[in-house]
Amino acid sequence: MSGPKHSCGIVGIAATYNVVAGLHKTLMIIQHRGQESAGISVFKNGDLHTVKNNGLVQVALSTENISGLEGDIGIGHVRYSTAGSKSVLNTQPLTVMTSFGTVAIAHNGDITNHAELKEKYLASGTSFLTDSDSELVVKVLSKYMVQYNDPIRAMKSMMGDLEGSYALTILINDRLFGVRDPYGLRPLCIGEIEEGHIIVSESAAIDALNGTFIRDVVPGEIIEVMHDHFIPYQGIVSKHKAHCMFEWVYFARPDSVIDGREVYDVRKRIGEILARECPADVDMIMPIPDSGRAHAIGFSIASGIPYEEGFMKNRFAERTFILPDQKERELAVSMKMNPIKSTVDGKRMVIVDDSIVRGTTLKKLISMLRKAGAKEVHVRVGSPPVIAPCYYGVDMKTREQFVANGRTVEDVCDIIGADSLGYISIDGLIEAIGKPENELCLACVNGKYPTRIPGEVHRFQSTLNSEF
Ligand code: AMP
Ligand code: SF4
Repeated sequence: MSGPKHSCGIVGIAATYNVVAGLHKTLMIIQHRGQESAGISVFKNGDLHTVKNNGLVQVALSTENISGLEGDIGIGHVRYSTAGSKSVLNTQPLTVMTSFGTVAIAHNGDITNHAELKEKYLASGTSFLTDSDSELVVKVLSKYMVQYNDPIRAMKSMMGDLEGSYALTILINDRLFGVRDPYGLRPLCIGEIEEGHIIVSESAAIDALNGTFIRDVVPGEIIEVMHDHFIPYQGIVSKHKAHCMFEWVYFARPDSVIDGREVYDVRKRIGEILARECPADVDMIMPIPDSGRAHAIGFSIASGIPYEEGFMKNRFAERTFILPDQKERELAVSMKMNPIKSTVDGKRMVIVDDSIVRGTTLKKLISMLRKAGAKEVHVRVGSPPVIAPCYYGVDMKTREQFVANGRTVEDVCDIIGADSLGYISIDGLIEAIGKPENELCLACVNGKYPTRIPGEVHRFQSTLNSEF
């Protein structure tokens, strides 16, 4: 089993009062970014205090578990991992005691030169408790802290060593920092809250704390966050950015604004563009809840075809995507979703989903729709065919798992049993996001990676530092 994956959610808060409630609330708001484990670290009276457990925020950080936890500066984390890597050792924040004090780190992303760096550290006598790349981040940072005794210098050096994606909140004793990788692969933004500041994966959390969004952390930036102000430092500069397109397509909350683009608006535009690129003569447009909803609304508006909710979703059903076995995944889809017979019986419909990975979800849903009497089922998808693995923290790891890999659109259409299948084009997706191509990561749909990945096409070559 490979190491844990980190499509996670992170937060840091500095305020004039106990920040535990604020951290807890924030983790609930970004729970969709990780349901595997949750944790909070706060610093008070010279000590770091951490509570972290497996499970949803409400369970892992229950009132009982966090009672007595106090501090006016702290960080939090929700972790998403694949099945099988549920060890409590991998829960975050990760904490270490060092000669300069305590360090706690919350990490969202994947360090792609993890194995290489780990080898080096092992050779110099460093030991590791886990195979997690976040532990490596802590070790690299600690090494430079010992060397320089200066957090900013240490973080800059750490950024020089790390490749891949990382959004980090870091507590070094009583100082809070946020760091974003030079390509801005994973989101991170900063806001003002009552007598304090927050740094968090998604802006929706700032709204939930009645705060005011200030700005996104610039790719390659280090920010020190204090209750009454924050100080930005330039860490590492890249000529190009590579914001993950999948954050807008699927991963983030629709009410978040990422790098200047609201997620809901992007999804709606995706739907509008899909209607233009792949029209269909049908009676209604139906979303796959919840992730296909905004895309379907856009499709309906642009096509003038009525929008209908034809699936009832069980909100408490298990997540199907991470189940290890295909049979289990199929069964879990029918536990999760049921067609509303009166809506679908005798109808020709377009169903809209954000993405197709293995094709399990749609295959099962289409057969359920046919059983419920659907006359025609046309599928429209809010991302281009996923054909290449993600090395940056989204759980799409091997080419073999992608139904679109090595197959034509017609082949995939046959496999899922649809009457027609249309994906948004790469250009259409770029238009919907509204950012230039060289500011986006599209690697899972075009196979060109923004960072060096052995055996894969490197899109930018090295544009870090040297050109500035
Ligand atoms: P699949 O059934 O494998 O085609 O999965 C596609 C469905 O899973 C889509 O409806 C997405 O909403 C969702 N999905 C896509 N990517 C991921 C991911 N990395 N983790 C969890 N769910 C995902
Ligand atoms: Fe996002 Fe795909 Fe790039 Fe991974 S490969 S960071 S999912 S755009």
